[in-house]
Amino acid sequence: MSHPRTVIIDGERISDCPHGVNETIDASGKYLIPGLIESHAHPSGIDSLEALTSYGVTTVMNMACKNYTACERLRGQSGLADYYSAGIPAQGPNSSHAINMKTPADQLVYPDSNPEQLVDWAIGNNSDYYKITVERNGPSQEMQISLVNAAHALGKQAMSHAADIESYLQAINSRTDGIQHTPSDGNLSQDAIKALKAQEQIFVTPTMAIFKYAYSNQAVMGFVAGSAVTGGNSSFSNVHSNVAAMHEAGIPILAGTDAVGKLNENVTIPFGLTLHEELQNLVAAGLSPVEALNAATRVAAKWHGLLDRGVVELGKRADLILLNSNPLLNISNTLDMEKIWVAGREYLDVSKHP
Ligand SMILES: [Zn+2]
Repeated sequence: MSHPRTVIIDGERISDCPHGVNETIDASGKYLIPGLIESHAHPSGIDSLEALTSYGVTTVMNMACKNYTACERLRGQSGLADYYSAGIPAQGPNSSHAINMKTPADQLVYPDSNPEQLVDWAIGNNSDYYKITVERNGPSQEMQISLVNAAHALGKQAMSHAADIESYLQAINSRTDGIQHTPSDGNLSQDAIKALKAQEQIFVTPTMAIFKYAYSNQAVMGFVAGSAVTGGNSSFSNVHSNVAAMHEAGIPILAGTDAVGKLNENVTIPFGLTLHEELQNLVAAGLSPVEALNAATRVAAKWHGLLDRGVVELGKRADLILLNSNPLLNISNTLDMEKIWVAGREYLDVSKHP
């Protein structure tokens, strides 16, 4: 936390030039933090971006695209959360994701698929990173390594969904970049955590939020069955202890939620609000409030290669939230928002939480 100071917004950026300032806000007694980066969500339309922005989310990483034309429309929406996207994920035939997402047969990964071609297609369709869904009936270890290498050869990151121990080990061995989710079916061994730590490019977006929603709501559990949650021995306490262990080992942790918005009458995983809840989940798992905030700001920016944001510094994007109370005293104070700016533009419809 810095001493009280003046922050100047000039166009899209934070500036130090006081000339031509046409509006001054007295923010004494308030707290200015960087706009939040949601590292795992599934916004499907402009309304999703509006919901995210109203909670101070100024950047969102879409973690699977179903339709490249539809995903393209969400890019570069001025005044709304800045959108980045994966491509159509690499999924195996008969995997639970392929069945749930009704992934077209010609997009699935078969043992004889050409990994370079699959990755070329996704990146050629403007995907910012490549997504691989590691699960039962998903891509083999060998195929996954080839997919990761193909993404790296194009200068792109590979994100791997993995929500059980076996898939986690495969993801670690593949030298993927971000691992999405946390194993829920047991505790990662010390060896697994060592191997994870040894892969210096790996970061983890645990998405504790989706597990928490699933374990407290049967309908959500049904929606994520077989994907985030693997039945049998799975529990939220496994998720909690794995996140605690990874954090303790110094693995970079990013804040993401798997929010999808309202799916039907019984299943809603709200955009924006869920990211604030994830900060609380991370603190409960042992991160300090400042570490949790970093997981949604500077740490997320660093690992996603978004070097123009995530901190309140000269020359960076003016993605900002003005809070009425101190988030370092209580992380839930991130919900006490007074004002939000996205790349210098004020977003007026701020969600208010009593
Ligand atoms: Zn997801």
